[in-house]
Amino acid sequence: MKTTIILIGLVIAIMGVFGLVLSQGKKKEETKKVTYNKLTPEEERVIVHKGTEMPFTGEYLNNKEAGTYTCRRCGAELYRSENKFDSHCGWPSFDDEIPGAVKRIPDPDGMRTEIICLNCGAHLGHVFTGEGFTDKDTRHCVNSVSLKFIPAGASKTEGKTRMKTQKAYFAGGCFWGTEYYLKQAKGVTGVKVGYMGGDKKNPTYKEVCSGTTGHIETNEVTFDPAKTSYEEVAKLFFEIHDPTQVNRQGPDIGEQYKSVVFYVDDEQKKTAEKLIGLLKSKGFKVATELRPAKEFWPAEDYHQDYYAKTGKEPYCHRPVKRF
Ligand SMILES: [Zn+2]
Repeated sequence: MKTTIILIGLVIAIMGVFGLVLSQGKKKEETKKVTYNKLTPEEERVIVHKGTEMPFTGEYLNNKEAGTYTCRRCGAELYRSENKFDSHCGWPSFDDEIPGAVKRIPDPDGMRTEIICLNCGAHLGHVFTGEGFTDKDTRHCVNSVSLKFIPAGASKTEGKTRMKTQKAYFAGGCFWGTEYYLKQAKGVTGVKVGYMGGDKKNPTYKEVCSGTTGHIETNEVTFDPAKTSYEEVAKLFFEIHDPTQVNRQGPDIGEQYKSVVFYVDDEQKKTAEKLIGLLKSKGFKVATELRPAKEFWPAEDYHQDYYAKTGKEPYCHRPVKRF
């Protein structure tokens, strides 16, 4: 009798301890919520609404640094730089993922395979096989805006506080002149001169000048959105060239000197439309075209920093206050 009571007591005690462990485990699960980073409208368009960034415009397209690519939304590690390769498709390409980081699901288009972050479901892009790019014969075609790059050696928090720059593309006549003024703007961290708008790969200055390639002399502006905004840089663009001139700028005549804003996303497009509308309301007959950005081809070295190298002053551009 005594032993039965002791046994029953023991069983009850064990059950109690077991129950406590179970409920604690449950509690732990509840508090382990995924924290999401705040997304910009463009990040949300791609990550949440399964959009696609404009090809050849992504932040990480040509990034060759060693490190890890994490999910922009939840921070989960997705890809390693060792698996990144150049596919010339316009988006960062990887031939393998970090094991268990990426989930494949059939795309609603019925043809492709969509890839999402296994941890939070963020849309990354699509995965393709059988193209023969690398030995692994796999290409994860990933939007830069779905990713956050953490350089090797940097701690996660360092990676987060690292300056995140943005790009803008403007064509406003001879690219030496626009480069000269854009470079001086607050928050602009770099300007390159080059060509955009045509289909010819690696165009030369001579080819572009012949006016047959469809390319236009263009500035690639890199800016720090913490110090300036796309709107500020675009305003400056409209004031350092004359946006009312058609297929020319000052002494330079030809299609390759026309005024164009090449936008990389909807936000940039809307901002440029707003500024053009403002100028029109002030009576300016704006000829500036709005076009989606294409691949930017940097011009030959001797064109970069032309005025700084030669010590000359721009002959083709003169800033005028218009806003
Ligand atoms: Zn994620």
